[in-house]
Amino acid sequence: MRPFLAAAGIIAAGSMLHLNAAELNIYSHRHYKVDEEINKLFTEKTGVEVKVVNAEADQLIERIKSEGENSPADLLITVDVGRLQRAKKEGLFQPIKSELLDQRVPEALRDADKQWYAYSVRARVIMYSKERVQPGEIKTYEDLADEKWRGRVLARSSSSSYNQSLLASIIAANGEEKAQEWAKGVVANMARAPQGGDRDQIKGVAAGLADVCISNTYYLGIMLNSSVEADREAAKKVAVLFPNQDGRGAQANVGGAGLTKNAKNVDSAIKYLEFLTSPEVQKMIANGSYEFPVNLDITMSPTHAEWGKFKMDTETFPKLGEYQEAAVRTFDLAGWK
Ligand code: FE
Repeated sequence: MRPFLAAAGIIAAGSMLHLNAAELNIYSHRHYKVDEEINKLFTEKTGVEVKVVNAEADQLIERIKSEGENSPADLLITVDVGRLQRAKKEGLFQPIKSELLDQRVPEALRDADKQWYAYSVRARVIMYSKERVQPGEIKTYEDLADEKWRGRVLARSSSSSYNQSLLASIIAANGEEKAQEWAKGVVANMARAPQGGDRDQIKGVAAGLADVCISNTYYLGIMLNSSVEADREAAKKVAVLFPNQDGRGAQANVGGAGLTKNAKNVDSAIKYLEFLTSPEVQKMIANGSYEFPVNLDITMSPTHAEWGKFKMDTETFPKLGEYQEAAVRTFDLAGWK
């Protein structure tokens, strides 16, 4: 019996070693509950343990740089294309080889050299009071600066990367001078100085403090499906308007991931990205964080079905990173706090 037991012991130790080796290390700027469920499901299906380090994208980029070859990070996940572009520019990524990702992720939403892929879409839109604004009364981001909306607009601070990306897209579309005029016009129309997050702007419109606001759609999705009744009631008073549908489209950013240059678990990392873009997980995202699937032709959530399909601004999308600094400067000059 002894030799047999010893052999069994060796096999057990060997398979444990194997289990320990199957891991995936993610540096992520995301902080949604659904992400944890997704990671758990991935581990269940593959046996690969997912370890996540959460921090702001800029800090994660610095960390990967300073860790160099010893960096444990396999994937960098952000909610901003500009950060993915910067990580690529700094040489932190390597090409991802996956036909499945090429099929599932539209060309506009992946890196030309395949160093990162988006897997969710986050539209930044205008929302309005169903009681006090008629559909069609406001159609574009540019309209927000019209004096018709004096004292009727709510928006969060210019320190928000979401607002910086929105202004970056306006700079890319209309030029810096016009973008500054626009920002000044919006500031003049504000019902109060910027404060709080997107949800606070939605609540402000619902409470009658203002008639229109700027917000990411998923915040309204979270409120509409909240377990808190007051949030659901407030959200029902507010409608989504996808701006600039006759022109460049609604400004959107993405949840996306890049494969790090020094990744130790390349196969697992690619498998994980393929998993993220699978119909099953795309549906979890659409009904968990209420972001849109990476393929906007597909509707996977009843909340999204109610809002309807929209055209995303893919023209300025690749320039959001490039104009980030100009956006910060422009906000300052316009006095957007
Ligand atoms: Fe957010």
